[in-house]
Amino acid sequence: MGSVRIENVTKKFGEMTALDNISLDIREGEFFALLGPSGCGKTTTMRCIAGFESPTSGSIYIGDREMKGIPANRRNCGMVFQSYALFPHMNVFDNVAYSLNIKQLNTKKWLAKLPIYARLLSKRLGRTPKDIKDRVIEMLRYVELEQYADRLTSELSGGQQQRVALARALLMEPAVLLMDEPLSNLDQKLRHSMRNTIRSIQQDLGITTIFVTHDQEEAMSMADRIAVMDHGNVVQVGTPTELYSHPATPFIADFVGTSNILQAIVDGKENGLTVVKGDGFVLRSSNGTDKDEVDVIIRPEHVKVADANQTVNEDDTNVIQGIVIMATYLGSIVRYDVQVGSYQLIVDTTYSAGTGIFEEGKKVKLTVEHERVLLI
Ligand code: ATP
Repeated sequence: MGSVRIENVTKKFGEMTALDNISLDIREGEFFALLGPSGCGKTTTMRCIAGFESPTSGSIYIGDREMKGIPANRRNCGMVFQSYALFPHMNVFDNVAYSLNIKQLNTKKWLAKLPIYARLLSKRLGRTPKDIKDRVIEMLRYVELEQYADRLTSELSGGQQQRVALARALLMEPAVLLMDEPLSNLDQKLRHSMRNTIRSIQQDLGITTIFVTHDQEEAMSMADRIAVMDHGNVVQVGTPTELYSHPATPFIADFVGTSNILQAIVDGKENGLTVVKGDGFVLRSSNGTDKDEVDVIIRPEHVKVADANQTVNEDDTNVIQGIVIMATYLGSIVRYDVQVGSYQLIVDTTYSAGTGIFEEGKKVKLTVEHERVLLI
């Protein structure tokens, strides 16, 4: 029921193409992130799924059902937005209970006090007021806000308000939960704890969830799979590990994690390894390529730093000469900026009290294993 299929969807606003023939297959029960920079089409994709926008061409399926012509309120999607969209004059309980009204009754009568409308609802839904109350309280318990049921939402913190919005969306028992930048109004610490809350509720309920973010760390830490979007296109879909270790383009390598991206020409093969040359370096890679010119991707944590005088077996690993420009102590790691030719490479090493920190201006040897040199 909860799978979502997007087939060749294009969305134009006048001359502007916001989505350019995108296709996605989101599995039932999956936590799926749409990741990309501002303006790449994430929100437009969500709005098309929810039914707030109609695709210019292409189809969207929720479960086996094509959504063309089906209005937003009949798509069985729960929504959580960046702005919590709560009623400030209503308490937490009523804010959550309000979603029942929208879905089941399609009337605003629920805005009044619960006891009166619980009776009305119970008649129309065949549920007792107690059933309805129990369901709302159950949802509040899920988001750990049971004790706040009587509080006005205007008296809650941002994180608590976002949890009310989540409880409200979940109460509808939607087939799909759509979350558009739900954490971006929260401070860093709260974002971390809300990530865990959302992820564990999602896993508990097994609800298909599509989550929009421009924050790669958020997508990587929460999602089963991620679609990276750029300029209205889906550029790669994969698990966080797949995207990190095999980015399809330099854009993804740069967007998903930190990368060093170097331009190089291919200079033949040596013992089954591809040799590439660029400004200030020669590298051998276990990646094959059929191109003459490549982008070389090296992750900062895959580089080791040694004193320039240290002996390294150059048959086993790549060695590059460099000069330390800056060393930043970040607690458990030291981040170096190292000049190599015209490039400044970022290198993250585990801090060791024995080795200390290489000072600015120090000549160093950088080593990178052959399989850590990606060629795109
Ligand atoms: P952000 O992270 O900034 O929210 P986004 O990836 O969600 O960005 P969208 O909001 O989907 O991007 O917008 C995609 C493109 O479509 C943008 O260039 C935007 O200006 C344009 N766009 C979106 N909605 C409309 C609209 N109603 N009318 C005209 N252009 C629009």
